[in-house]
Amino acid sequence: MIKSVISLVIRKVPRPYLQLVSHHIVKGMAFFYRGNKVECPVCLHHFRKFLPYGRKARENALCPNCLALERHRLMYLFLKRKTEFFSKPLKVLHVAPEICFIHRFEQQANLEYITADIESPLAKVKMDIHRIPFGDNSFDVTFCNHVMEHVKDDALAMRELYRVLRPGGWGIIQIPLFHPLPEKTFEDPSITSPAAREKAFGQNDHVRLYGKDYADRLRKAGFSVQENRYTKELPEDEVKRYALPEEEIIFFVEKKS
Ligand SMILES: [Zn+2]
Repeated sequence: MIKSVISLVIRKVPRPYLQLVSHHIVKGMAFFYRGNKVECPVCLHHFRKFLPYGRKARENALCPNCLALERHRLMYLFLKRKTEFFSKPLKVLHVAPEICFIHRFEQQANLEYITADIESPLAKVKMDIHRIPFGDNSFDVTFCNHVMEHVKDDALAMRELYRVLRPGGWGIIQIPLFHPLPEKTFEDPSITSPAAREKAFGQNDHVRLYGKDYADRLRKAGFSVQENRYTKELPEDEVKRYALPEEEIIFFVEKKS
């Protein structure tokens, strides 16, 4: 029942409003998930289990309190344990900001934190990633997750992110990975109908399906890239407790000085 409601909401509610709408629905469900089997490292609340989530709903995925998904919990742990994101003074550009992060990052006294998106009502700056309205070398950090598979020219978008990052700066640029991964990224601009896109690219608003060459595409834009399978570094009990994604790769990019 819950699964089918969530699938329906994800399919029917226009994408920009999905996070806003789902926030209210999900918050109301937290009560029914009381318990202490799983814990969200982002908001520190614990539950019996997480909510199911996804077009094909995955069990134990969505935090009923802050809406963090598996990959958000993993990224948060990565930032906390592997970077100076929570301590060093940093200017941050967060493209297509995830609702579970916005409020927290805004509260961090060490950050000058700017959110941007072409359509999301959650972001402060309205911008097209093909033409980022900031000067060269403006930011210490950038996050841009689950964007590249939607944009017309991902090579240009990557070059734009590289341009606004200062030398020595870093970022995380995630994409959805559909296993088994194709060798090469597949794109075909003649595929335009939502149904055909869903079939070819895995979702009705995607315009390409990334393959094993994704990191090389980032490198072409200038970045140094580490493909970090962070879940593999963590003990089994943490992977279970935080319900972390087994296959997720964190694409950690740097603009070398
Ligand atoms: Zn949470």
